[in-house]
Amino acid sequence: MQTYKKGLQSFYMLIESLEQIPAIGKKSAQKIAFNLSLENKFLSFRLATALEESARNVRLCQKCLSLSESEICEICLDSTRANGELCIVGHQKDVFTIEAINEFHGRYFVLDSKAELKDIDFSLLKARIQEENIQEVIFALSPTLANEAIMLFVEDKLECFANLRFSKIAQGVPTGIGLDSVDQLSLSRALSARVKF
Ligand SMILES: [Zn+2]
Repeated sequence: MQTYKKGLQSFYMLIESLEQIPAIGKKSAQKIAFNLSLENKFLSFRLATALEESARNVRLCQKCLSLSESEICEICLDSTRANGELCIVGHQKDVFTIEAINEFHGRYFVLDSKAELKDIDFSLLKARIQEENIQEVIFALSPTLANEAIMLFVEDKLECFANLRFSKIAQGVPTGIGLDSVDQLSLSRALSARVKF
């Protein structure tokens, strides 16, 4: 096997790389590698380009910390979205989830919910509230005890803005699951029927 493996360096490197991807096990990695290397070479080249380009270009927007391919993302640059509403989400993928329901027309700020509270960039958040004349902060975080604590902490840190209102998405979003697992209608209702926090 070792000799055979030696002559198939690229193939094994592909399998080993695929295995590193979360949720792809040994068997799936092998199956994908066979498919890409033999049956689907076109996809293979496309994938290689997409991987390289996204690794090179995708980064965090310097204003809202969501995904962007330039310094500032399209949502932050879009003047029609300067409506005084700032939606705080726990992960970059939540921006995609909320954008998909086309219900929210303000701007975002991404907290990394896995990071510790002390890691939240409050100077960045405060600067945005000031510069963009934010009137309402909407927490779109799934209802967990940890997230309740985060909301209180953020509200406390922003108490210097006397006229700032705080709200959170309404009940109906189940406890402990990510926003991306909530069906679009429930999320849309939860967002439009948001409650004062
Ligand atoms: Zn942005």
